[in-house]
Amino acid sequence: LKGTDTEAVLSFRQDHDALLKEIGAINQGAANLFRLNPETQAFDRFATTFRKPDGSMPPPMSIGILHPAYDNLINNRPHLGEVPVMGRMRLAYLTPIQAASGAIAGALAVDVGWVDDLVVAKTELRWQIIVAAGLILVLVAAFGAAGMGAEMKPLRVLARYADDLAAGVPGGAVPYTTRDDEIGALAQGLKRVVALQDKLAHLAYTDSLTGLSNRGRYLSDLDTALRESLSGKRKWALIHLDLDKFRKINDAYGQTAGDSLLKEVASRIKETAGDGARIARLAADHFTILIAEGGSTDQASALAGNLLNALHQPIELRVGEFHVTGSAGIVLLQHDARDADEAHRNAGLALRKAKATGDRAVIFSSELHDESENNIRIERMLRLAVQEREIEIHFQPQIDPATNQLAGVEALARWTHPAEGPISPGLFIPIAESSGQIVDLGTLILDLACEQAAKWREKNFDFKHISVNVSPIQLWQSNFVAVVKDALNRHGLSGNEICIEITEGVFVDQSERRIEKVLSAIRELGVLLSLDDFGSGYSSLGYLNRLPFDQLKVDRSFVSDIDTDVRKQKVLRGILELGRGLGFSIVIEGAETGEEVAVIRQMGCDAIQGFYYSRPAPALLIPEVVKKIARSLPSSEARTA
Ligand code: C2E
Ligand code: CA
Ligand code: CA
Repeated sequence: LKGTDTEAVLSFRQDHDALLKEIGAINQGAANLFRLNPETQAFDRFATTFRKPDGSMPPPMSIGILHPAYDNLINNRPHLGEVPVMGRMRLAYLTPIQAASGAIAGALAVDVGWVDDLVVAKTELRWQIIVAAGLILVLVAAFGAAGMGAEMKPLRVLARYADDLAAGVPGGAVPYTTRDDEIGALAQGLKRVVALQDKLAHLAYTDSLTGLSNRGRYLSDLDTALRESLSGKRKWALIHLDLDKFRKINDAYGQTAGDSLLKEVASRIKETAGDGARIARLAADHFTILIAEGGSTDQASALAGNLLNALHQPIELRVGEFHVTGSAGIVLLQHDARDADEAHRNAGLALRKAKATGDRAVIFSSELHDESENNIRIERMLRLAVQEREIEIHFQPQIDPATNQLAGVEALARWTHPAEGPISPGLFIPIAESSGQIVDLGTLILDLACEQAAKWREKNFDFKHISVNVSPIQLWQSNFVAVVKDALNRHGLSGNEICIEITEGVFVDQSERRIEKVLSAIRELGVLLSLDDFGSGYSSLGYLNRLPFDQLKVDRSFVSDIDTDVRKQKVLRGILELGRGLGFSIVIEGAETGEEVAVIRQMGCDAIQGFYYSRPAPALLIPEVVKKIARSLPSSEARTA
């Protein structure tokens, strides 16, 4: 400031007030001018954009010796940091104003926002800080112009730096920070603004566990990627990746182990996806990856495949070694997303599809969208159908290949919708499971099966037993055993007229104790137990030996083309020997041709269930079908008894 009369220059003036208003409006905070009071040595405010709610001037305030900025200001240094305002902390930038003599004459304060808001700040934050910093420099340049003519160049350079910073293209390190004068102090201040901005951005955009981006950053990255994809600048793909059964690990081994696992997974994803990828973690084990080489389905699925493979390596944690798999959903942004919301949703849809089987990647297609709408429709229709008891069961005979006599029948759910026609159980059972309807549906089917068993018995048709499929979800209902008992009682059946089929998948992730308890309780009712789809899952031989199963149903995959595939024959023979050795009765599923049946018959098993003998059919037809099969035994193979 030129002249010595600080009082005259640093006092209320229209042009100061106008300038402050402008600053305050741009940075959505407040701007204040202070004059150093030579008597009290405090900085007294003489102009401010703060107004009371009624529009009048706020009470006077001073920056005294206890104020966090005082020390810096009185020593001719700018202050950047938290200052108390009305009981809360605000982030402010204060810079000293010097007289031409070099003495401190006053201060300019620009505050940027509430500190507690800033921690959760979004994009505006960056602008607020930078705009404030830029304005300070311009303002200081204007104030100092008269007194510091010779210093104008570095000031302009700094002002330009702040300007570039505001435009998102900072030009390297802040210049002049090593100078030992007010320019140096100003540059230091700017440097701290930059550092603070980085720190806040880091806080606001980073997932603290893995160091990956968080949801906020993901959304803004997705926006950018989408814009680039739609404009044709670059072709991005979005991958959503999720670990299969992560919750189980977390529950069983605790959160610390879960966290370590996630960290390792994050670092594998980072390594595999490469430098150009934008990786975020949205929730527990839900990762997102944006890759710029996502132009074609091949490229995107190759990367997703690599990501899933990277998870296959065992993960060593303090509590032990883990084997995890993941599922991935992929969206090609330029094809299958009009906006970020849609991209996100479609990736989620593809991920859900992938998770149905696990350990695979699925690329979004519009059919998937239709499929999900269709599933919702089916779910609603099914609810009605169960209420109205529109579900039926058909029966498929199990035939002893040595005698062609009936060994049992399996009940299979059938649903014919009045308008849509037949809907396959392969479609509606999983929907019933995921929507929770399987409990009511399963109870209905069990009741229908028991009803039919009673009818057949009354008609002296010796069906042996009816096998009923039970979903794991039903099995874990606390009243399941009571439901079975009720059904038997209601129709006056003895337990061994019903066999419950449980798929092998049940045993993955369940404690053996629990399974054993439920199965034993069922077995105590006299009900038979069959292990369905044997060989398709992961049941350990230990389980087989300890759990009270009566029957193994060998999965269809071991049977198709058995007549021409010698290796398959060896495998099946092994399974049969094992099963027999453990004392199970063995049913082989899915034999479709006479050749397949001939090979199986040679190996020997208790029953074959397959299209070769009969497709599933309504109860009414079963006695006739069974009679026909018994008569069809080729004489060359007939037992001579
Ligand atoms: P699953 O329990 O393994 O039932 C055998 C499936 O194989 C049936 O399909 C049957 O029609 C089919 N199948 C039998 N022989 C052959 C053959 O020679 N070749 C071929 N390709 N297939 C054969 P379906 O009726 O479509 O049932 C599919 C699955 O739906 C069942 O597999 C079962 O997991 C489920 N399911 C069916 N009914 C029920 C039910 O009442 N409750 C529950 N929880 N699940 C059911
Ligand atoms: Ca079955
Ligand atoms: Ca089966």
